[in-house]
Amino acid sequence: MRLTVIGTGYLGAVHAACMAEIGHEVLGVDVDAEKIALLADGRTPFYEPRLQELLTRNVGSGQLRFTTSLREAAVFGEVHFICVGTPQRQDSPAADLRHVDAVVDGLAPHLRGSCLIVGKSTVPAGTTSRLAARVRALAPEDTDAEVAWNPEFLREGFAVEDTLRPDRLVAGVTSARADEVLRRVYAPMLDAEVPYISTDPATAELVKVAANSFLATKISFINAMAEVCDAAGGDVTTLADALGHDTRIGRRFLSAGLGFGGGCLPKDIRAFMARAEELGVGPAVSFLHQVDEINARQRRRTVDIAREMTGGDLAGRRVAVLGAAFKPDSDDVRDSPALAVAAAVHREGAEVRLHDPQAMENARAVLPQLEYAPDVDKACEDADLVLHLTEWIDYRRIDPARLAQLTPARRILDARNALDHPLWRAAGWTVRALGRPQPP
Ligand code: NAD
Repeated sequence: MRLTVIGTGYLGAVHAACMAEIGHEVLGVDVDAEKIALLADGRTPFYEPRLQELLTRNVGSGQLRFTTSLREAAVFGEVHFICVGTPQRQDSPAADLRHVDAVVDGLAPHLRGSCLIVGKSTVPAGTTSRLAARVRALAPEDTDAEVAWNPEFLREGFAVEDTLRPDRLVAGVTSARADEVLRRVYAPMLDAEVPYISTDPATAELVKVAANSFLATKISFINAMAEVCDAAGGDVTTLADALGHDTRIGRRFLSAGLGFGGGCLPKDIRAFMARAEELGVGPAVSFLHQVDEINARQRRRTVDIAREMTGGDLAGRRVAVLGAAFKPDSDDVRDSPALAVAAAVHREGAEVRLHDPQAMENARAVLPQLEYAPDVDKACEDADLVLHLTEWIDYRRIDPARLAQLTPARRILDARNALDHPLWRAAGWTVRALGRPQPP
C-alpha cells in the first residue's frame, strides 16, 4: 500500500520506517526541513535502538522516501498517518492541537479519490469527529476521505520492537471500509496474532489516555509508598516485590524512584483532566492531580536528600549527575526528571557535571549553564556527591571500587533504585535511595 506518515519525530520516524519494513511504500512528511534532509539521507535525527538499521535498508531500497510537501503527500497516499506533536498548551493544561489541525488544513484541499486519514498522535476524546467535519469542509467534492484514530502505544527505547510487534492494535473507525483498510495496513501483525480491537473513535482516543493515566498512577502509587517507607523504616523494593507477586497487581511499573517524565505521560494526564472538565466529568479523574503532584514531589525529595548528603548546603559543592534522558535507551529530555533535578541542584549553587550516554546534546540545548563530561570518570572526579538519575545499563556496570579512587567523598544518591547497593557500600560508599532504609 502507499502510505504517508506526517510528522517524523520519535513516533513518526519509527512508524514510517516500520511500515516500509513490512512492505509498504512510504512517504514521510515533516515541516522541519533539516530533519527531512537527514532522514532522506538515511540518517536518524535522534537515538532510538534499531531505527538506523531500518532507515538504511528502506531508504536504500527506495521503499521509504521523505518530503516537506503535504501536497505531494496528498497525491501519493491511500492512507495518511498523522504523527505530529500534541504538546501541553502554554496557557493551560489542555492539549495543543494546532499541529494536528495544520496537517488537516494543509492536506485536505489536495486530496483526491478515496483515502483514509488515520491519527496516531495522542488527542483528547472527540478530536476525530471534529477533524472529520473539517476534512468534509475542506476536501474537494469528488473526494471520499474518512478519518479514523489508531493511537500509538510505543515506548521510546523499544519503539521499533513495539511497532513491529505491538501488545495490541486499537482502531477507532466509523465504517467497515476504514476497518478493512487498517487491517490491510497491519496484515503482518494480524497474521502474527497481535490482538486487534476495532471500536468507535472516541473509545480509541480514550484507550490511549486511560493507559497512560493507569501507568502514571501505578508509578505515583509506589512512589507514595516509598515516602511512607522512608518515614516508617520500611524498604519499598521488598514491598514492591511482595506486591508484584500478586498477579492482579504485577511487578512492572512498580519501581520506586524519581518518577515519570518525557513527552507523553505528564502532558497526557493533564490534557485528560482538562478534557474531562470540558465534558463535565472533571471530578471523575481528579485523582490524577494527586498522581501529578506525587510525581513532582519525588524531584523535590531527591534534591532534599542531595542537600542533606552534602551537609545541608549544596552551594559550592561538586555534584556529578549520571543521566539526562527521561528514561534509558533514549536521548529524549522532554520534561526529564533527571534534568529537573540537575537544574535545581545547580540553582542552589552546586557545580554540576553531567554525563549521559546519548542525551548530552539535547541536555546542553536546554541547560547550557551545566558542565558536560565526556565520560563517567570525568563527571565523577572529585565529586562531593554522585546523583544517579537515569537507569542506563552503563551505570549499573560501573565498578564502585574503581570509581571510589576518583571520588574520595564516596557519596551516591541512587534516585532510580537500580544500583547494587551492598556492592557500592562494600566499596566504601555512602548510598542513599528513595524508600530504602539506611543500614545501621
Ligand atoms: P515529536 O515532537 O518528536 O515529533 C513531532 C513531529 O511533528 C516533529 O518532527 C515536528 O516537526 C512535526 N510537525 C509539527 N507540525 C507539523 C506539520 N504541520 N506538518 C508536518 N509535521 C509537523 O513528537 P513525538 O514524540 O513523535 O509525538 C508525536 C505524537 O505521538 C504526540 O501526540 C505524542 O503524544 C504521541 N506519542 C508519542 C510517543 C513517544 O514515545 N514519543 C508514544 C506514543 C504516542
